[in-house]
Amino acid sequence: AKDHGRNRAEIYDAAMQIKLTRHARMDVALRFALERNELSLVYQPKVSLSDGKIKGFEVLMRWDSPEYGKISPADFIPIAEASGMMVPIGIWAMEKACRQLATWQHRYTHIGNLTVAINVSMRQLLQTTFFSQVREILESSQVIPSSIELELTETSAMANPMQTMETLSMLKRLGLRLALDDFGTGYSSLAYLQRLPIDILKIDKAFVQGLGTSHSDREIIHLMMALAKTLNLETVAEGVETLLQIQELQKTGCNLGQGYLFSPPLSTDEAEAMIRNSHVF
Ligand code: C2E
Ligand code: CA
Ligand code: CA
Ligand code: CA
Repeated sequence: AKDHGRNRAEIYDAAMQIKLTRHARMDVALRFALERNELSLVYQPKVSLSDGKIKGFEVLMRWDSPEYGKISPADFIPIAEASGMMVPIGIWAMEKACRQLATWQHRYTHIGNLTVAINVSMRQLLQTTFFSQVREILESSQVIPSSIELELTETSAMANPMQTMETLSMLKRLGLRLALDDFGTGYSSLAYLQRLPIDILKIDKAFVQGLGTSHSDREIIHLMMALAKTLNLETVAEGVETLLQIQELQKTGCNLGQGYLFSPPLSTDEAEAMIRNSHVF
């Protein structure tokens, strides 16, 4: 039995070793991904649940590596965070997204205040130069600041509350809007939530997907909506996949939805075609 145990441990070690090696090699590949043009951005529509009009897009990063194929951001973002690559690729994404939105705002004046939401990771937020880099990007792209939303997770906003609070207040003064992403999955205290200069709550898809099947998820969403109303926050439901979920969300008073039912993340050209049509459903 002892031998058996040791073999299993050895197999486990070998598997860990392979995983670690892959991680280390992906880390190296990621360092060159930007200059080799392997990174791109896709745009997922955010839709008004009352009239089906497109309100804006969330920008999501993609990595197509010649060695590893298409890698999910859920896998490569943590690698980028650990290696320090997150800061340059995050800035690259923000620059590109702001320039794209400015082009659209210029080209399609009927779109009004079409928004673009950009994910900001903990590493970026904790960089002392983050604020000035964002300011520079806003200036050089000439985008309307209030049409840019920064999506932060509860975890990243709580990493260093004092510093984060100050950075967020400065970003607010620039005119940007702030969203709390994956709401309900973190550990934010309600008192803290009230003090953060947040404009938007993004209800995590885990709760949205329980709508219509899980009584408790419906109750939780109703509570989140009541909270959002009290704090005067806009709400976005993520991961909307069924008509039933839309109907349930409309009952709760949720303003906006995002999910495969409306549209998957789109290429720049596809997103632009959608702007021309203006309606998603
Ligand atoms: P997230 O910010 O919560 O983004 C939403 C994720 O849900 C996206 O996955 C999106 O493609 C996916 N999604 C959209 N609609 C549906 C749906 O109806 N059902 C389901 N099951 N999923 C849906 P994606 O693109 O794979 O991104 C995963 C995560 O990677 C993001 O989660 C975000 O945390 C991170 N990420 C992606 N792009 C960036 C980026 O540019 N910067 C940073 N810091 N993080 C990013
Ligand atoms: Ca997000
Ligand atoms: Ca999210
Ligand atoms: Ca998420």
